[in-house]
Amino acid sequence: MKAIVFDVDGVIVDVRESYHYAIKETAEFFLGREVPLSAVKEIKYSRAINNDWDVTHEVIREFGGSADYKKLVEKFTEIYEKLKYREKQIIPTELFRELKSAGAPLGIVTGRPKEDLEFVLDRFGLREFFDATVDEDDIADKNLRKPHPFPLHLCMELLNAKEGIYVGDNGADMEMVHFYRKLYGKPMKFVHFKKVVDLDLPADFSTENEEELRKYLLQEVSRSQGAEQVFLP
Ligand SMILES: [Mg+2]
Repeated sequence: MKAIVFDVDGVIVDVRESYHYAIKETAEFFLGREVPLSAVKEIKYSRAINNDWDVTHEVIREFGGSADYKKLVEKFTEIYEKLKYREKQIIPTELFRELKSAGAPLGIVTGRPKEDLEFVLDRFGLREFFDATVDEDDIADKNLRKPHPFPLHLCMELLNAKEGIYVGDNGADMEMVHFYRKLYGKPMKFVHFKKVVDLDLPADFSTENEEELRKYLLQEVSRSQGAEQVFLP
């Protein structure tokens, strides 16, 4: 059975009002001047930086400042704690329920720290749908984090699935799938969900519409069921 693995930020939840502002406000704290939100997005998306602490560090550097990384993370966390209730769920719970009842193993690969992932899963009541989650704290070696394909590989191993689809929203997600295919040589499709950020990325399927995403994923799941039946002894 084909596994479906989801990114969180920009896919399951809209973080424009939380993480994007946390980057902006943290950078402003260290720079002592205003940073336009457009500059934050430009740096995050054009350079495909997945970790938002790294994005913040890059924004500060770009604006001619500097910050101790540990202090940056502390400040960022303090600001994010106040902004995290602004996050909104994008993919409806019903879709996860439908995919589960169709028999698809569901996973998450995210750049969120464990605490923030648990917060969002509990807040929207989504924890029960996911058979495996891989967050930033699960990957101790920074070099093995997204866009490196190791987190996706780990998730697929935990799901015990040989074939999958990754649903992501940015360049780092697309690169991770590309590297996964190269390094592990297993089938993995990239679905680009661009409801929040309209980027132009090569993908097996692209949509900004939840209903189209739903149809595509359910079709893929039923197709892989059919394929398995053919090869069953
Ligand atoms: Mg994302």
